[in-house]
Amino acid sequence: MGKVNDKYEAVIGLEVHAQLMTKTKIFASEPSSFGATPNTQVSAITLALPGTLPKLNRTVVEMAAMMGLACHSKINEVNYFERKNYFYPDLPKGFQTSQDKSPICVGGYIEVETEEGKRELALTRIHLEEDAGKNNHELDANYSLVDLNRAGTPLIEIVTEPVLRNSDEAYALVTEIRRLVRYLEICDGNMEEGSLRCDANISIRLKGEQTLGTKVEVKNMNSIRNVKRAIDKEIKRQIKAVEKGEVIVQQTRSFDPTDGSSFPLRSKEFAHDYRYFPEPDLPPIVISKERLEEIKSLMPHLPYELQKQFVETFGLSDYDAKVLTDEKDIALYFLEVTKTTANYKAAANWIMGNVKSYLNEKNIGIAELAIAPERLSELIQLVDNDQLSVKNAKTVFYEMLNKPKDSALVIAEDLNLIQDTDQNELDQWVLAAITSFPDKVSEYKKGKKGLIGFFMGEVMKLSKGKADPKLATKMLSELLQK
Ligand code: ADP
Ligand code: MG
Repeated sequence: MGKVNDKYEAVIGLEVHAQLMTKTKIFASEPSSFGATPNTQVSAITLALPGTLPKLNRTVVEMAAMMGLACHSKINEVNYFERKNYFYPDLPKGFQTSQDKSPICVGGYIEVETEEGKRELALTRIHLEEDAGKNNHELDANYSLVDLNRAGTPLIEIVTEPVLRNSDEAYALVTEIRRLVRYLEICDGNMEEGSLRCDANISIRLKGEQTLGTKVEVKNMNSIRNVKRAIDKEIKRQIKAVEKGEVIVQQTRSFDPTDGSSFPLRSKEFAHDYRYFPEPDLPPIVISKERLEEIKSLMPHLPYELQKQFVETFGLSDYDAKVLTDEKDIALYFLEVTKTTANYKAAANWIMGNVKSYLNEKNIGIAELAIAPERLSELIQLVDNDQLSVKNAKTVFYEMLNKPKDSALVIAEDLNLIQDTDQNELDQWVLAAITSFPDKVSEYKKGKKGLIGFFMGEVMKLSKGKADPKLATKMLSELLQK
């Protein structure tokens, strides 16, 4: 999939915005929650009424620094805000408070995996900024409407170097960014609601060429899949244009989900001169060494660390480790189970199989699962001890969901599913099965070895399913040998 074309190669850089999940806005104290009645969460500060001054929300610094640490970036001990000046109705101040020359995090990388293997994709920076409001051109036939609730919502913007080579890498990168922000609990990662947004910068060049081609920026993709679609389409569009002898013009295009294409929004001739200058109303952000150490100590488990641990410590396959670390709650649940079982593979199978499908079916999170980690371990233990068959373990599993207080053993006993390992009883069943069918015994002795299944069936009937199948088979074949 990495091969775009025999003659051309693509170069892609992403700009990913993530809304930070703070209770309040970046410079003001009104809530920044999604979905409120339009224009009910807008303070005088957000409106930039004369005489008001911004005050930085401490939490956003911590959140941005955490993302930087997770991405191996350097955290700038001193960094500051700048004004990015432009006029737009959803920007009441007439400028966006952002970071330009001095972002909070510099450099670093994010590791992704595609069919072609693992790659560390270099980041330029991660900076802090505020979100704008939202214009709406559809609700009213005659007017454009503006909702300023979103104005002043804190964002981090993660900017990559132009190092991605195809849409698969972009897909993997946005997926990994979403996994990271969710693990850090700094953003809900919801692309449909726009709390995670991705702009893709795309250019093409002849293979082997060193200089970069002219880039086109595509925005407004509302899912990770659409980021991939938009990139594929844009690469094709550029190759077609160049082949026709056209020159690619630098422009911004908007993604159209109906067919994956895009249409121009603005081109370079209208390019903004943002007249950046340092924000005079906010002091620089200073992150002392002590503060940075404190933030490091608050870092939760990171997905790629857990993934590595699941392979190296618990012997899981790369695939299982990936699936189990997709969602933090599930990864942590697995980690808990490993404290009470040594059969890590069985734990992984239960979670990836019955647990996940049950959660999907009920549309609930693992926090709501009635089977606590240590109870899942009990169930695994019963199977490993040959006290419970794999098939019956599933029945016990579903019963455990209804009886959150009872141990797996108690439930299995109540359901009469514990396999009998009592040798006396087993002897009797096996003997009875053999002596009741002397003609089958002689057929078996003549070579019809498949009849062992028939005798097993009899043993199971006599024992009402309680006989340990492994032991019973062993005894049957020994007795039938004689
Ligand atoms: P701008 O000043 O237009 O915002 P930047 O240099 O800040 O451009 O880069 C924005 C994004 O575009 C970055 O992710 C960067 O990697 C990417 N980018 C820059 N030049 C190219 C190019 N020629 N082809 C593809 N992506 C590019
Ligand atoms: Mg830029």
